[in-house]
Parts: sequence; C-alpha cells; structure tokens
Amino acid sequence: MQVAEHFCDKGCVITGAASGIGLAVGEALLAAGAAVFMADVDAAALETAAHRLAAAHPGRVQAMPVDVTKADDVRRMVEGAAARHGRLDVLFNNAGIGATQPIETVTLDHWRRIVDINLWGVVHGIHFALPIMRRQGGGHIVNTASMAGLMPFPFQALYCATKFAVAGLSESLRFELADEGIHVSVVCPGHVASAIFGKPLAGGLVDLPLPPDAIPADEAAATILAGVAARAGIIALPEGSRTLWRRYWSDPE
Ligand code: NAD
Repeated sequence: MQVAEHFCDKGCVITGAASGIGLAVGEALLAAGAAVFMADVDAAALETAAHRLAAAHPGRVQAMPVDVTKADDVRRMVEGAAARHGRLDVLFNNAGIGATQPIETVTLDHWRRIVDINLWGVVHGIHFALPIMRRQGGGHIVNTASMAGLMPFPFQALYCATKFAVAGLSESLRFELADEGIHVSVVCPGHVASAIFGKPLAGGLVDLPLPPDAIPADEAAATILAGVAARAGIIALPEGSRTLWRRYWSDPE
C-alpha cells in the first residue's frame, strides 16, 4: 500500500511537533491527507508552525501546548484529539531533548529532567492512548529513540539511558500488542538537521553543533512514514549516519 493511502483521513497526534522531525512528520502526514493534532511545550513556536500548516491544509490541523512530562497535559492531548477526529490512529511520541556532556557536569536535577521528558513523555503517551486504541481495535504508536538508543556513545550517558529505555519499551510492546492490531515502531535517527543541535545544556555547556552528515528533516520524515506504514519495528535512519555506524562497528571496544 502506498504511504499516502495508508495515512489518508487518519487521526494523528505528534508531540514535539513545533520543530525538526516532529514538524516534518506533521507536514508529510498532512500531505498524505491525514488530520494532524500538533503538541509542543514551546507554545509560540507551535502557534507559528500550526498557523502555517493550517493555511495549507484547512480544517485538518489542530494544536495544543502540551508538556509531555505532565500526565494531565498528555491525557488532554490524546483524549482531545480522539474526540475531535473520532479515532486515534497514530500517536507519535517524539518530543525529546539532547545532552552530550561529561558525566561530572550533570546534577541529579539534570538527570530527572531528561528522564522526565525523553522517557516519561513517551510513557504518558502510551498510557493514555492504549485504552482508546484497544477500544477502536488498533492503531500505530511510534516513539522516537535515537541511534543512541541502539548503541552507546561517549559523553551521552543521560541521553543513551533514556533512548535505550525508549527502544526497549517499544520493542517489548511491539510483541505484546501486535495481536490487538496495535503496531509499535521506534524511530532511531542518526543525525537529522534540527534545532536540537547547539542547544544550551546543563552546567552552562552547549550541545554539539549540527554535524555535516545530518540528513534533512523531510527526508527523515519520508523514511519514518514508510516504516510506520510497513509496520516496521525499528526504523533506523542510517542514510545520514554512516559515520556513526562505522565508528561503532569498526571500533566496538
Ligand atoms: P527539535 O529540538 O527540533 O524538536 C524537539 C521538539 O520537542 C521541540 O519543538 C521542543 O519544544 C519539544 N519539546 C521539548 N521538551 C518538550 C516537552 N517537555 N513537552 C513537549 N514538547 C517538548 O529536535 P528534533 O531533532 O526534531 O528531536 C525530535 C526527537 O528526535 C527527539 O526525541 C530527539 O531526541 C530525537 N533525535 C533527534 C536526532 C537528530 O539528529 N535531530 C537524532 C536522534 C534522535
């Protein structure tokens, strides 16, 4: 089945939808004919993005400021989207933050923050979407982990801890829920051009700059939707990440 056919008229929710991968997936879903409920903690960026997409796709875009660390925000997002569209076909738990820094620069508060966003944000989404998807007899749950959820990287202990957790959670649920028609995929990007690079980090540090091998977000979105439509488990985006794969596999020690 063509990707556009698969997503046409589907009700989709995306967290982290104001920027980067989430925004590009939202655009690709709209181009495929889906209705998209955009959620992000950055209310100003969300409003700008949603306004632009709604102008191009009238009647198919809704937006709600949501902090994925807050269970009640996520419950309102999932239930609101399902009520509006009558179904919840795709939940893309994508919101996340990066952290590349030496472990000694990290406080317990920083640990809690990244676990709250990158792991609890995904858990909240799954928790509130499952009863709805079970009632309607199926759906897609798509969680964003990272290449750093499949292999370790130095100076990424916090990030890897959360992304390995998301990958394990997703793969485990994939087996558990498949018989109910609920398909779970985990997206594991290498480097995708987005605002995640160069962001301020804990301890006054700044995250890595945009790597030269980063692939464009719309290219990543096309691969993600093709993977979800094909009910893939792990959707790795190695095209732009060959240096990462090579470094790990040629030097696993
Ligand atoms: P991005 O910074 O462009 O987008 C992330 C979005 O998440 C932002 O709009 C931000 O406001 C939102 N967000 C952050 N905290 C939130 C919260 N508490 N509640 C709701 N929204 C929140 O970055 P991106 O690269 O598009 O990242 C999307 C996902 O992809 C993340 O989970 C990230 O870890 C993952 N990822 C990205 C790359 C890459 O190379 N860009 C690689 C691997 C994994």
